[in-house]
Amino acid sequence: MTARLIDGKAIAANVRAETAIRAARLAAAGTVPGLAVVIVGEDPASRLYVRSKAQACEAAGLRSWVHAMPVDTPLDRLVAFVHELNGDPEVHGILVQLPLPGRLDARLVIEAIDPMKDVDGFHYQNVGALVVGDPAFYPCTPWGVMKLLEHEGVPVDGAHAVVVGRSTIVGKPMALMLLNAGATVTICHSRTRDLAAQTRQADILVAAAGRAHIIGAGMVKAGATVIDVGINRLPDGKLVGDVDFAAIAPVAARITPVPGGVGPMTIAMLIANTVRSAERAAGFALAAGETRIA
Ligand code: NAD
Repeated sequence: MTARLIDGKAIAANVRAETAIRAARLAAAGTVPGLAVVIVGEDPASRLYVRSKAQACEAAGLRSWVHAMPVDTPLDRLVAFVHELNGDPEVHGILVQLPLPGRLDARLVIEAIDPMKDVDGFHYQNVGALVVGDPAFYPCTPWGVMKLLEHEGVPVDGAHAVVVGRSTIVGKPMALMLLNAGATVTICHSRTRDLAAQTRQADILVAAAGRAHIIGAGMVKAGATVIDVGINRLPDGKLVGDVDFAAIAPVAARITPVPGGVGPMTIAMLIANTVRSAERAAGFALAAGETRIA
């Protein structure tokens, strides 16, 4: 078997196109969806990432603002600024780029965001609501993975899903979304004893450990769907995922590439969350399938 490639770039383009139509409908009714991104400090990679988020928003007909604050911004100033954004009716989504400089407690900043503008889905209220299955926003990366599975027609209900990684941003919400969609879920992490024994059970394997090629030959069951969230830079500068693509593609049924798999979905879902928020603010009815994960 040679795996079918899941083309995240193309699927993300579809999501963005659908979202752009919804954004245009909102604009025609007098509401232009707006995303405010707050970045603290000078980290060039974060700055580049933030700029690409803003550009993607604008391409979909949204408004976006990048608020760059100096590295020595005090916590109370940052929190006060987030409160200002909470009160700004033109802002429907607020994203604080992580990581923040070490002396700033990111949790305190995230908790300052209005949960109804928390388009990253990181506020405690949305994290808690995700346990029940009904947050205001799904975290963008795991939601993007769910969309890839849906697009590819991968049955989740009843499947055994194995998630490698238990971070608050990817692994845990990913596991919850799969669970809410009916999967039997195993969560693996750095303390898991026999990783291969676990991953070999997976009908759906999501790798989100941030370790290059941690999923290698013999670790995937024939016919599994393999989703690679990892982004790792090798010493030679090459970007690779957590999955050894060459070793796994011959056995899996479907596989995402890195780059061009999950990455493009993350930004597409961020735009979708912002438009969803603007629709709520404008009193638009929910689009079909928007409230729950299938
Ligand atoms: P993280 O470092 O916060 O978490 C990594 C998780 O992997 C931890 O829970 C850890 O226990 C687990 N882990 C580490 N080593 C392991 C091992 N040897 N065996 C099993 N589990 C192990 O990282 P994160 O923020 O969750 O991100 C994970 C990866 O996904 C990173 O490469 C990151 O760059 C990438 N990422 C990609 C996107 C995207 O849009 N494609 C978005 C977010 C993160």
